[in-house]
Amino acid sequence: AAKESGDKHRRYHLDLDDAADEQARIGAELRVALDTGQFRLVYQPIVELPHGRIRAVEALVRWDHPLRGFVSPDQFIPAAERNGLIVELGAWILRTACAQAADWRADLGDLAPHKISVNVSARQLAQPGFSGVVAAALDETGLPVEHLTVEVTETAVFGGSHAVQALEELRDLGVSIALDDFGTGHSSLGLLQTVPVDVIKVDKSFVDNITMAGRHAVIATALIQVANGLGLRAVAEGVETAEQAAELHRLGYRLAQGYHFGRPVAQPDFSANAVVVT
Ligand code: C2E
Ligand code: CA
Ligand code: CA
Ligand code: CA
Repeated sequence: AAKESGDKHRRYHLDLDDAADEQARIGAELRVALDTGQFRLVYQPIVELPHGRIRAVEALVRWDHPLRGFVSPDQFIPAAERNGLIVELGAWILRTACAQAADWRADLGDLAPHKISVNVSARQLAQPGFSGVVAAALDETGLPVEHLTVEVTETAVFGGSHAVQALEELRDLGVSIALDDFGTGHSSLGLLQTVPVDVIKVDKSFVDNITMAGRHAVIATALIQVANGLGLRAVAEGVETAEQAAELHRLGYRLAQGYHFGRPVAQPDFSANAVVVT
């Protein structure tokens, strides 16, 4: 068996020289991974500033690969998008996240996070009948719709003729919609005029360096004003230090996410939510 895995290792490195082969290999491996249950979800808290009470969690997928260990989504979501497997994987992610959220509600009641946020990729959003997939996940798991947010990027919104319609249908169902990586696309602000949105997730690139007076702080300030003016919630992403959290709070941010408050884990600790901070 040791020799076998050694061979596999070597083959993996050889394939890296050939992008097309690598794509095909990953595609086939993803199929097996889905069929044999190698995907896991981890959950990262989205907290209220300044005290850090958990308001929501974002579900993030991991591939628990038998040889390579945990593989990050940046390394397989693009391949799953290209070969279409994201549609099936995405449905699994939605169902699993909703089931987890329903479990937390049953076990913890109001200590459970108010929302679970699930990432949806371009190809999923573009598939006809996507809102039906979401409705089915809620139905099967019994999670009340007000506890679900879907996160989409600008690219996904422009990714197909069905995308905006799907978002309108989700909105009609009562699902919240978050624009992910906000501010990094070509027409982030324009999107707010045409797409039903509840939350903007201000990209980490604007949070980095926010404590140094400069462009980042100016843009972060403008974005919270846009959110407030339009009656949207804003989440600052990628908050890594107490200084960044304090500065964001000073600028008017009420919600934040990042390693400073908690890394993505299989079972976040919600017990601190019982503590009333004044
Ligand atoms: P994203 O949706 O923008 O998710 C945030 C990413 O930033 C996550 O990486 C998270 O672990 C990381 N992060 C959070 N706080 C910090 C911080 O303070 N510092 C730094 N350096 N990073 C932080 P992750 O889990 O590797 O996911 C990467 C991307 O893969 C996601 O970016 C999302 O685009 C995609 N993705 C993850 N899970 C899913 C999923 O279930 N479905 C789909 N379609 N895409 C997913
Ligand atoms: Ca996200
Ligand atoms: Ca993001
Ligand atoms: Ca991102």
